[in-house]
Amino acid sequence: MPNLSLNSAMRILITGGAGFIGSHLCKRLSEKNEVVCMDNLLTGKKSNIDGLNVEFLEQDITEPFDVNADLVFNMASPASPVFYQKYPLETLETNSAGIKNVLENARKYNAKVVQASTSEVYGDPKLHPQPETYWGNVNPIGPRSCYDEGKRFAESLCMNYHTKYEVDVVLARIFNTYGPNMLKKDGRVVPNFICQALKNEKISVYGNGEQTRSFCYADDLVEGLVLLSEKGRGGEVYNLGNPREYTILQLAEQVKEACNSSSEIDYRGLPEDDPIKRKPDIAKVISETGWNPKVELKEGLSRTVEWFRGVC
Ligand code: UDP
Repeated sequence: MPNLSLNSAMRILITGGAGFIGSHLCKRLSEKNEVVCMDNLLTGKKSNIDGLNVEFLEQDITEPFDVNADLVFNMASPASPVFYQKYPLETLETNSAGIKNVLENARKYNAKVVQASTSEVYGDPKLHPQPETYWGNVNPIGPRSCYDEGKRFAESLCMNYHTKYEVDVVLARIFNTYGPNMLKKDGRVVPNFICQALKNEKISVYGNGEQTRSFCYADDLVEGLVLLSEKGRGGEVYNLGNPREYTILQLAEQVKEACNSSSEIDYRGLPEDDPIKRKPDIAKVISETGWNPKVELKEGLSRTVEWFRGVC
């Protein structure tokens, strides 16, 4: 397989390019490359890519397409629990028929693929922190299964295209990520808390707030994806996330401080199958690509709050 280097201009297809992480990738890569941004705008927003030098194609990846590219980032899929539970069948379709179309297109053009997988493949993990070798603990028929099992199926399809057709595909298991361009109503914890804190409304902590997540700032995550496109080995899986772990209550306090807010905590029911803890083991991506997230939660929240001020 050719060793790709983003130092020379390439033609890059970013599916889900108008979504949260996809739009940051479009921005990062369109400065030096020809970028095609494909999105069906189900949960993405055209305004996320306004002013960027990208070609936009309004297209659902579940419909066949033909786009010549050297490199593909498949970021297409609803990704927040609220949205994938609102669109469960679309989520399953995107992560089965959709990824098949992405892989067929890559096979035709001999393109490398970076597949956006997820920490959700580990479900509610029994092993902590989670290394790539962990097989996970997923409820196959629970409310999160459309996403968890969808992404697990997508990983399997990628691996089998790699083995059978030698498609150069790298799997990136993305852990909780936050930053500008998240939808204020996508239901994830960071936009929820920031919008509540900015309006001095009660902060909705689900359960007792002792469950943990590890939050990676969008710019860091995007650098990780770019490095994986350059140095990631085909047929391999890499965790991408910030290993600094916080309880949801600690996050609420940090958000209050970043917003200078007087909001009180409002404890609500814990959603079914909500993972109790999550923290990536990132030794593999560090040793193979040199990636390491740099932005501390305090700094990342402060940048995110500034962006949300005009949005909430
Ligand atoms: N959460 C919360 N309040 C909210 C939204 C989420 O306490 O308003 C909790 C949720 O129960 C979970 C964590 O925050 O334990 C992260 O949730 P999110 O939806 O952001 O992503 P997940 O990691 O569950 O996919």
